[in-house]
Amino acid sequence: MPHKFLRLISAFVLACAVLLPGVATAIPVTQTLTVQVYQLCDDAGQNCSSTGPAGNSYFAAETNKIWAQAGISVLFNFVQQINSTFFSTINDSAGNSLFNLGQTYTPGSNLSSTVVNMFLVHSINGGTAYGEGWIGVGGLAIDMDLVSAFNGGIGRIDTIAHELGHNLGLVPNSLGGSNAHSSVPNYLMAGGNIRLVPGSLNDIAPDGLGYDFLPADQIALAQRSSLLQDVAVNNVPEPSSLALLAAGLLVLAWRRRSLG
Ligand SMILES: [Zn+2]
Repeated sequence: MPHKFLRLISAFVLACAVLLPGVATAIPVTQTLTVQVYQLCDDAGQNCSSTGPAGNSYFAAETNKIWAQAGISVLFNFVQQINSTFFSTINDSAGNSLFNLGQTYTPGSNLSSTVVNMFLVHSINGGTAYGEGWIGVGGLAIDMDLVSAFNGGIGRIDTIAHELGHNLGLVPNSLGGSNAHSSVPNYLMAGGNIRLVPGSLNDIAPDGLGYDFLPADQIALAQRSSLLQDVAVNNVPEPSSLALLAAGLLVLAWRRRSLG
């Protein structure tokens, strides 16, 4: 009968809601990406690089909205302030490149396939790049002076998400990449010279202008990165334990009735 069918559906939906909290959201988070944060300051521990907007360190809100398209949640873990004038401005030709910085302060996890180290510096290659990241392994640097000043101080809010995309392996030639970049301006992985940068959370896909879009083939590749960890579903009652609980309550109810 229709009514009985509807009730079964309702019961099933309710059971799912109880047993699998979180899966009802539009974009379920299935993986996490943990970013280890290092902030560069001068030798005296002064003049530290910015960590991003107040209340939104590392542009975490934008980074997470962008990567939510792939079901990936990005967690930032501040590890250490590094006091080094030398490494506060990195340069590929001066012996203080991103590689040198990683080797010096994170020697065990530089170019790692399981750890992302993010260095917030004042300048990269004389201010010629907002950020740089390894392709297919963890490790990136952000020119926080440039990124913070962008768009009248709103910030270049998708740079960290973009460099993380490189760490996750984007974009190989097999997916249409050229120099690891897409040629579509509203894609997250478009090169910095053509990318359409959102002015706020509202501009980021799937909303508004649809900027920082991640196409399905790039999502599929990124999701295979060893830098990601599958989300463990914890603290969910096992169906068997729920059944046992129900059985126990029934027994209690029967005993009460028999006593009464
Ligand atoms: Zn890039």
